[in-house]
Amino acid sequence: MNRRLALGLGLAGLALLHTGPAATWLPQVRRRLPALAGVGYRGHVALTFDDGPHPHSTPRFLDELGRIGCHATFFVLGELLERHQWLGRRIVAEGHELAVHGWRHGNALIAPPGRLTAEIGRTADLVRAVGGVRARWYRPPYGALSLEALIAARLRGLRPVLWTVWGRDWEAAATPGSVLARVSAGLRGGATVVLHDSDHVSVPGSWRSALDALPALVDRCRLMGLNVGPLRDHDVPAALTLDRLRSALP
Ligand SMILES: [Zn+2]
Repeated sequence: MNRRLALGLGLAGLALLHTGPAATWLPQVRRRLPALAGVGYRGHVALTFDDGPHPHSTPRFLDELGRIGCHATFFVLGELLERHQWLGRRIVAEGHELAVHGWRHGNALIAPPGRLTAEIGRTADLVRAVGGVRARWYRPPYGALSLEALIAARLRGLRPVLWTVWGRDWEAAATPGSVLARVSAGLRGGATVVLHDSDHVSVPGSWRSALDALPALVDRCRLMGLNVGPLRDHDVPAALTLDRLRSALP
């Protein structure tokens, strides 16, 4: 481990012991916490989407998922779900899963005390009201899981889940080919893939690269003998406890 990384992990651990966010998005930390990263059943790949629902893009993902016969988990923002409740209902009606990303796409680094607890609870309540089922999963924006968010999620019965592989589909330079190549590099049984069904917090239109990569990505999984589906079918092993999170941060 190089010095800069050691310093980063040390600072993250120190921050967690107080009230700040942990750098849980770091690959090194996610490797030590497979349940947090979303490592699941080895015959399965979990397909997840963040930052929606958006009326311009999410319906196209739902159409495509329907066409290829695949279900997914949608980590939604409460402020968007409140405006586009019909989309939340459609997500559930078509067999997909709603999960909590937050009320708005705030950074835990600058959230005042109490805000995350209120916003996670408000989003979980809205998911239940719109979708008719209780959300099971929480993914913090930017993958920054603060102590407050971890406690708030656990009180709501939400398991924090990040990802094992991403497509960097939010970048301006992303193409379907770049998204597919990046995801394929980390594609194996038990993987949790994150893509974005909305450009709410990224480059306008960036969702097109994820949408166009989707059929080939699912095909690739199936050729590898892997089923693709939502987190509820992924059998993510153990709930993340505060002690486990602390022990993974040196
Ligand atoms: Zn996000």
